[in-house]
Amino acid sequence: MIGRLKKAGWTIIDDPQEADTIVVNTCSFIESAVEESIDTILELAEYKRQGSCRRMVVAGCLPERYREEILSSMPEVDVFLGTGAFDHIVKAAQDPQFTHQCILPDPDLTPVQDKNADREISQPHMAYLKIAEGCSKGCTYCIIPKLRGKQKSRHPDDIVSEARRLVDQGVKELVLVAQDTTAFGRDLPTPTNLGQLVENISNLKFDGPQNPAESWLRVLYGHPESIEDSFIKAVASFPNVCPYFDIPVQHVSSKVLKHMGRQYTRDDLCRLFDRIRSIVPDAVLRTTLIVGFPGETDKDFRGLMQFAEDIQFDHLGVFIYSDAEDLASHWLSDHVPISTARDRYHQLMSTQSGISSENNRKYLGKTVKVLVEESLEHHLFMGRTNFQAPEVDGISYINTAKSHFHLKIGSFADMRVTDAMEYDLMGEAI
Ligand code: SF4
Repeated sequence: MIGRLKKAGWTIIDDPQEADTIVVNTCSFIESAVEESIDTILELAEYKRQGSCRRMVVAGCLPERYREEILSSMPEVDVFLGTGAFDHIVKAAQDPQFTHQCILPDPDLTPVQDKNADREISQPHMAYLKIAEGCSKGCTYCIIPKLRGKQKSRHPDDIVSEARRLVDQGVKELVLVAQDTTAFGRDLPTPTNLGQLVENISNLKFDGPQNPAESWLRVLYGHPESIEDSFIKAVASFPNVCPYFDIPVQHVSSKVLKHMGRQYTRDDLCRLFDRIRSIVPDAVLRTTLIVGFPGETDKDFRGLMQFAEDIQFDHLGVFIYSDAEDLASHWLSDHVPISTARDRYHQLMSTQSGISSENNRKYLGKTVKVLVEESLEHHLFMGRTNFQAPEVDGISYINTAKSHFHLKIGSFADMRVTDAMEYDLMGEAI
């Protein structure tokens, strides 16, 4: 949307007080995201009431999920654009005839972006690269397939040429995302897979596995049912692919998994993580788990805790089950009281904090490569290693007091780790 607006002559500014048009892009995946979206809209609507802002547009999953019902409840908003209506953004931002509307095309019929789509990146050194839109799985707690439609993979050539453009612009880390990245390519007329795509992108910038990498490639949001050996082997083969496996498993109790609509068992997961570690010995594992899913007993929860301790994930996120009437899981019996779910959340997070601290200690004294992202103060920079994904994992603090290096934002630096905290690392530039 930003790319389209800029092409139409708009200037993007950060201060809403100065804006002629305010665009709020929303999420409605879980209750807290809905609340945050609504709070943001109401807060920014004040500028419309005061008169400094002439038009207000709300885009994304909130209008898609709550449809016409939000039209009357938010009169300050001129246009709502559903997930498949992003290409109406310019008209929505500037056409006074186009008012009090909610545009909701069927996401299944909306084409995915092509290689010629205008693209703006928010940080010059890191970019998310969407490889597919929608999801063809049917997890009972998840609204995404309803909001985004079935999986529609982009053409691999489009993705590779966008990757090339981004790397040419100076991007040092490309993060491939989709709702179910590891299922990429299965829906295309000529089916392909994520392993092949990773290989094609990796080959863009260097000639073989022995050459030094110039940009990192990271993949987020894999699925235990769709991950294939070809992807794991591609990660093992190309040094610029972060050995990072983000595979949300959500639970391990067979009963809970069945009610979630997920088709695997605890044993399947153990075999999968063993296999990843055998093919990629330095693999970094990340997962997310849901606690308080309807029907989850104390025994189920203890099994989940044991699993986290057995696998020793490098990174682990926990969500408390978020209920809503439009979810299939809402109609399951034995909903877990929120106090119990919160208690389980804290127990799991506390277990993981011990695992993460211990895990981070293994880097003490070692030299790691860091992508420098920010200068915090004199002689102190912030960045990430290839085992720290943006926004969700810990970060690395790089001290340059001894070396007096002036690190360039968006470049790679070597750091000797001197301190390991619960989630973050601290070290000296060398
Ligand atoms: S695989 Fe992920 S996006 Fe798809 S339905 Fe399940 S939780 Fe939702």
